[in-house]
Amino acid sequence: TALQTPSKNHHYKSVLRHFPQDHVVTAAPEPPIQDIVRMRVAAEDAEDAFFIADLGEIICQFAQWKRLLPRVEPFYAVKCNPDPHVVSTMAELGSGFDCASKAEIRQILDLGISPERIIYAHPCKPLSHLRFAASNNVNLMTFDNADELHKMHRLYPDAHAVLRILTDDSKSLCKLGLKFGASLDVTNHLLETARDLGVNVVGVSFHVGSGCLDENAFADAVARARHVFDQGTKLGFNFTLLDVGGGFPGANERSGVTFDKVVRVLGAALDHYFPDDPDRPLRIIAEPGRYFVASAFSLAVNIIARRAVSVNAAEPPSAFMYYVNDGVYGSFNCTLFDHQVVYPELITRKGEFVMDLQQGSSDNDSSSSSSSSDGDMHNNKVSLHECSIWGPTCDSMDCIVSKTVLPELNVGDWLLFRNMGAYTLCAASQFNGFKKSSIFYTNTFGI
Ligand code: PLP
Repeated sequence: TALQTPSKNHHYKSVLRHFPQDHVVTAAPEPPIQDIVRMRVAAEDAEDAFFIADLGEIICQFAQWKRLLPRVEPFYAVKCNPDPHVVSTMAELGSGFDCASKAEIRQILDLGISPERIIYAHPCKPLSHLRFAASNNVNLMTFDNADELHKMHRLYPDAHAVLRILTDDSKSLCKLGLKFGASLDVTNHLLETARDLGVNVVGVSFHVGSGCLDENAFADAVARARHVFDQGTKLGFNFTLLDVGGGFPGANERSGVTFDKVVRVLGAALDHYFPDDPDRPLRIIAEPGRYFVASAFSLAVNIIARRAVSVNAAEPPSAFMYYVNDGVYGSFNCTLFDHQVVYPELITRKGEFVMDLQQGSSDNDSSSSSSSSDGDMHNNKVSLHECSIWGPTCDSMDCIVSKTVLPELNVGDWLLFRNMGAYTLCAASQFNGFKKSSIFYTNTFGI
């Protein structure tokens, strides 16, 4: 189909017109990401860490979603990466949006996007944010407790409420069920309360947990949703919406869970529990965040300092500590909040990528202290040394990788971290006065 070859698809091509003109490098014939890195790294005074954002990767992920999960409409979870060019790309692709707050709703509405393309997917909303949603006709919103129903009844009686249920998130990195989701013990009572208040409940939502490592969690959650649909029907509701949440893996996930696996399990569960029925039309939506953006962003960091660790001064170093200019208080907050494990790759002084060095060499002789040349790195001939990688702040919590092996690196060398698009910059601080890494955009779509 056309979607299987997105580069030929006119609809997807048209999205490119809206790519940012600032910070774009698209020199052919080499891969643009490499071009950007080469250009940045080669600059005389190059030092600042920087992201390379490949918006074309987002388009490919979107095309894949449409191809493999056509029954489910994505509502991109803005919180995951609210970068304006990411959001505009998703808007151009026709995605809906999952917003968590007034500011996120405003960001989407300011793009001229209709409120119907938004779900306010936070079950515990500040009153002022709820009022803002009401005054802007963002009527689709989740709840999971009785107090929220009373708020909606008071401030937004026309809201279309979606009951967020608890799922088994024990196999997910971020267990959202600790904070949100109505258990099946209370769903009937909540629906009775809604009925008594006259709140219009239109369906059910769930979130299997972000960074879900077990695709079967989706099937279990769909079965639970079916149960609550049946409760709703018995109480006189006419549910028309199922929201299967987020938790979809990004491309290049190392944990083994893949989008294909999720799609197989989720698709089968939807067909089983919610078969297509023309007499009872059902809209199925999802709130994916990580899926769209994780693989679209890579982060290049510069080694600003290093410490050679020696058992005694007469011996060659047994390990190295490298200090780089983005850290856990910045983009690498994902290692804390999002439980990510990040993997460094080398960038040579010429801006070339050296991939899989750690796996590619069996030479782990830490007694060698010879400095590695670019050529050697490419041939995987260099000695590898134990090392740790630290962020730039004065805090010892600011450790990005506590133990790995790399060739001996020097101040001024660069490292690349891929899959840095989800839950990174959006939660970064400027602690210790270190500014957030800037972004250079590119597009590999159709190349
Ligand atoms: N929807 C809600 C309500 C969330 O809280 C989150 C993440 O925390 C998402 C969607 C996006 O999840 P993911 O990035 O795992 O797809």
